[in-house]
Amino acid sequence: MAQVSGAGLDTLSAKLSGAVLTDKDAAYDTARSVWNGAIDRRPAVIVRCATAPDVAAAIRFARDNGLEISVRGGGHNYAGHAVSDGGLMIDLSTMTAVSIDADARRAVCGGGTTWEMLDGAAQQHGLAVPGGFISHTGIAGLTLGGGIGWLTKLAGLSCDNLVRAEVVTADSHIVTASADENPDLFWALRGGGGNFGVVTTFEYRVHDVGPMANLGLFFWGLETGSEALRFAREYVKSLPRTVTGFIGVCLSAPPAPFVPEQYQGKPGHALAITGFGTDEEHAAAIAPVRATTPAPLFELVTPIPYVALQQMFNESAPWGTYGYERALYLDDISDGAIDVIATHAPRKSSPLSFAPTFGLTGAFLDVGDEDTAFGGGRAPGYVFNIAAGAPTPELYEADRQWVRDFWDGLRPHARGAGGYVNFLADADEDRVRASYGPERYARLARIKAEYDADNAFHLNVNIKPA
Ligand SMILES: Cc1cc2nc3c(=O)[nH]c(=O)nc-3n(C[C@H](O)[C@H](O)[C@H](O)COP(=O)(O)OP(=O)(O)OC[C@H]3O[C@@H](n4cnc5c(N)ncnc54)[C@H](O)[C@@H]3O)c2cc1C
Repeated sequence: MAQVSGAGLDTLSAKLSGAVLTDKDAAYDTARSVWNGAIDRRPAVIVRCATAPDVAAAIRFARDNGLEISVRGGGHNYAGHAVSDGGLMIDLSTMTAVSIDADARRAVCGGGTTWEMLDGAAQQHGLAVPGGFISHTGIAGLTLGGGIGWLTKLAGLSCDNLVRAEVVTADSHIVTASADENPDLFWALRGGGGNFGVVTTFEYRVHDVGPMANLGLFFWGLETGSEALRFAREYVKSLPRTVTGFIGVCLSAPPAPFVPEQYQGKPGHALAITGFGTDEEHAAAIAPVRATTPAPLFELVTPIPYVALQQMFNESAPWGTYGYERALYLDDISDGAIDVIATHAPRKSSPLSFAPTFGLTGAFLDVGDEDTAFGGGRAPGYVFNIAAGAPTPELYEADRQWVRDFWDGLRPHARGAGGYVNFLADADEDRVRASYGPERYARLARIKAEYDADNAFHLNVNIKPA
């Protein structure tokens, strides 16, 4: 491990608007913690940056002192890439300023912003940026890898809505990336992850959303699960652009007031339908679910504030969860895939483990395959994510194996071994390449060589410099 002198840290500290933390500081343990409770790493130095020049100084210091660089946005990466043993963590958690320009239809956010913060500010103007399904995640990692959520069908991925970024590069230069400035870098940032620099400012296009949306939640037990999935796969394809269907495969019914007591904790499959159009449109959209056989065991149909919708699943994945996941792209939820699901669904151990299944359709398909670096291509289909979430190390061990076995079983029914890069908890180089495909990977590798030839930013879903 590289040794850092106290005098060196004092010199660094004097250059910063933010703070330097080491294990002697009271704030160190909180600062080094990430969402995944299975990750317990101790960086030599945490630089809690307040400005882009702070980030530039931190990168320079790390490279001069031979310290491995990690970058923390919202701290939600399953692999815990935001923190390393003995390295220097660039902590953006206080760079959270959000400003909304409703006339220009833009949102400008600091690199450590969470979706909760952005949603709250944008909704004051009846606006939103497409984010993820859980609003304590960071905008940074989620956007840089793609960003799939309730609004993907209506307005595209998070990265599709990025219009400008301020980036601190590996040689500590502060540059702008947009369609007009450094367009190659701008392309790479929209799907290529944290490989190309530290993004200190994200500027997004905003959309008219809310303040109210409509929700329909339906649940079937595993005993009728295969029929329910066959219904759900056809049903979600029939929905208009303003209505999103999300399938929660092998989810345990929560201990919520709308769940009858006898079903609380029961594993099954859920269908969540969110409407961003009119109430009538939503009512028409959910009618076939109510009429289907087998009938759902219970439902919740209600108008819901957009901000509450964004937070609806937050408690299902609390900070400190022991997490592991593997994802695949499916062209369809084929009968073969449904058979595999039927085999593995009853074998999970933790109530928080499940397989969120996201449809890739609508505005997602309006963007050209080559327009962004998003891995997986712009074909209709699903991201099938098998996610272990456990409150204890024992359940975590059991469900990590469950994820691997389930993934192995499903692999022959998938597009390949690649997956959505934001859901790759333990990807080796082959799976990273498979996730992007050879041509996109080669282009990313050329841009990586231009901006980070030494691979200083390698704690991520790593692209090797060409
Ligand atoms: C509970 C939970 C729910 C999730 N839900 C969704 C979802 O609905 N949709 C979805 O698409 N994804 C989802 N994800 C996956 C999520 O997109 C990734 O975990 C993402 O990496 C989180 O970003 P972060 O900034 O919070 O993470 P961090 O761990 O802080 O960062 C992850 C990586 O991104 C890079 N990075 C972070 N900040 C910056 C920056 N400012 N500049 C450059 N690089 C940076 C670094 O390489 C870092 O290692 C979810 C994850 C969790 C744990």
